[in-house]
Amino acid sequence: MVHATIAVEDRRFYVHPGADPLAIVRAVVENVRAGSLRTGGSTLTQQVIRNVHRRPRTVGHKLAEIWEALRLERMMTKDEILEQYLNRAPYGNQLVGVEAAARSYFGKPSNDLSPAEAAFLAGLPNAPSLLNPRRNPEGALARQRVVLRRLRDQGFLAEAEFRQASEQPLRFLPPESTLRAGHVTDMVLSQFQPYPTVATVTTTIDDGLQEQIQILMQSHISSLAGKNVTNGAVVVIDNASCEVRALVGSLDYFDEKHDGQVNGALAHRQPGSSIKPLMYALAMERGFLPADVVADIPTAIPDHDGDYVPENYDRKYHGPVRVRTALACSYNVPAVRVLKVVGKDLFLQRLREAGITTLTQPADFYGYGLTLGNGEITLLELTTAYAALANEGRWRPSILIRSASDAAGTLLRSAEEESALHPPRRIYDQRAVFLVTDILADPVARRPAFGSWFRFPFPCAVKTGTTKDYRDNWTMGYTTRYTVGVWVGNFDGSAMHGVSGVSGAGRIFSDVISLLHTVPTGNPLGDFPVPEGLERREVCTVSGLAPTEFCRQRILEWFPRDESPRAPCTVHRAFRVRDEEGRVATRIFDVFPSEYAGWAEGMRLPVPPAGAVQVIAGTGRPGELPESGNSFSIITPRDGDCFKIDPILRRDFQTVKVLCAVPPRFKDVRVRVDKSYELAYRPEGIRWHLQHGRHILQLVAMHADRRVESAPVEVRVE
Ligand SMILES: [Zn+2]
Repeated sequence: MVHATIAVEDRRFYVHPGADPLAIVRAVVENVRAGSLRTGGSTLTQQVIRNVHRRPRTVGHKLAEIWEALRLERMMTKDEILEQYLNRAPYGNQLVGVEAAARSYFGKPSNDLSPAEAAFLAGLPNAPSLLNPRRNPEGALARQRVVLRRLRDQGFLAEAEFRQASEQPLRFLPPESTLRAGHVTDMVLSQFQPYPTVATVTTTIDDGLQEQIQILMQSHISSLAGKNVTNGAVVVIDNASCEVRALVGSLDYFDEKHDGQVNGALAHRQPGSSIKPLMYALAMERGFLPADVVADIPTAIPDHDGDYVPENYDRKYHGPVRVRTALACSYNVPAVRVLKVVGKDLFLQRLREAGITTLTQPADFYGYGLTLGNGEITLLELTTAYAALANEGRWRPSILIRSASDAAGTLLRSAEEESALHPPRRIYDQRAVFLVTDILADPVARRPAFGSWFRFPFPCAVKTGTTKDYRDNWTMGYTTRYTVGVWVGNFDGSAMHGVSGVSGAGRIFSDVISLLHTVPTGNPLGDFPVPEGLERREVCTVSGLAPTEFCRQRILEWFPRDESPRAPCTVHRAFRVRDEEGRVATRIFDVFPSEYAGWAEGMRLPVPPAGAVQVIAGTGRPGELPESGNSFSIITPRDGDCFKIDPILRRDFQTVKVLCAVPPRFKDVRVRVDKSYELAYRPEGIRWHLQHGRHILQLVAMHADRRVESAPVEVRVE
């Protein structure tokens, strides 16, 4: 191959300094004779430069090429330059490098090429499209004769060898055999660099499934044609063995216009929200439960390069949200607040343990956006990490090669051997993973954000992801049997037009997962197994606490059996109020903790009117406040209340609503704090900014020309 390349492309390669004046003169003469500027006279060194830069062919670029070639010769040895040439030269059909060409055309590594085959390949880089052997076999063979003659003339082949090579019929691999699963083939070949003797490889790919998915993907993406969507990738993993059953890397491997040879399963892309389940699994391990409430309110988190202010996809805040809703509806603000508690360093470390190799920077580089998917990952690695969720927290590398043997049939490698080398490794606690799975498989929980999307006749956990500007679009998910990852986007990095995780990758995911489970396999698909020590308890849907008779909605939620019961709901409170005609009625109000004051006000939630008296839950009786409308007192906060300053939230948001019962004849009403200062009171309530320590709040006013004080309320702020 080396001789053939030198003989046909650059016979004085080992003697010229990088450019060959003799060859240039000869090329100029030929060009003048031909009456046009054709290529020619380029040394192998110049061609290496050209294959690196790929600039248009102008006289100026040609001169730059010569100059750079002369410099390259001073930096590299001749053999190193030749190696670069052979690894970078184009051999037609998007094949780059002699190794790829030898394997694609002749099905063998380049060091097994016969002189006839080497001469054939060496002739191609001169005009890879014109001499494309698949389209112009006669042209390519004529070129081979030229190369063989030069090999003989330059003494590389003896006359007998020349004649034998000229007579040897070339056996090409049919293009069909390379058409199928092109990216899988690439991946397998790249794994066998250290095994030159390998002759037969069996992959774990299910041929029929692979083909069906390829067709499915093409039909979905062509239906999105008006939205600038040109590519996608799908990975299917069999949970039990972690074997890859299908890997479609692009829409069409041979589509040069859309970089079809790029393997979308290995491309580095931002995962968006599709990475969140891996963060929540960690959070569950650190004590979070699906019933816990996280604040989805304006949030600024100090980070090493300024405040990080997350925003939700729908650009709204949802107030108090349970972890179940936060994950199922993919709200960003709660995810960032949870990560703040869990720690981004720990999260990054866990991602690496889950087989994500592309996040090589320290955690500060990604910041809290790591849980919103700002770091680049690959579809194959993310799908493998999801397979660990499907496998109840046990991770193992995905397997693509079932067996490999040499020409004599000796087994060089097998999936069994691989499995034994990499037994499943626990990376997440089983209970934590179950809680995440249960949320992802809950169609009711995701309804507020996703409507009735993703309903399957079998238990299936799903998560979508869409990156900023619609560059990447993901749907990941699993059943007890299979894990499926789908990515949709463009290899040139251009944005899609308004394609969400649901409408883009989601449709492909739905079809693939349905396809996988419609094949009659005997056993119906089971529920995700509930680990030991979990039980269901009823909670209020808003507070996540034990429901009282005042809670509007309640659901069953998972709790560790050994955890003590939750306190009664403090959000839904009943008050005795007087209507316009003076009749006493009981009404229920939502009373949120102080941190939600701003959100609740923006939502225009009704507040208990002045003079309302709270009814104690479970008794049906009024509370300690007198029922008469004459009470002059602070309703909220209540004596003994304790508030905590949130280290995340901006301090100016952290206020307590002070709401008082003030009968009409009281004038100049003020709230006195610690007998040190007073705030003018308004009938709709006022805000008091939280300050550390114990404080005494008291209502003061003028009544019948006398200064009166209410009972003091003591609060604690930590
Ligand atoms: Zn409630």
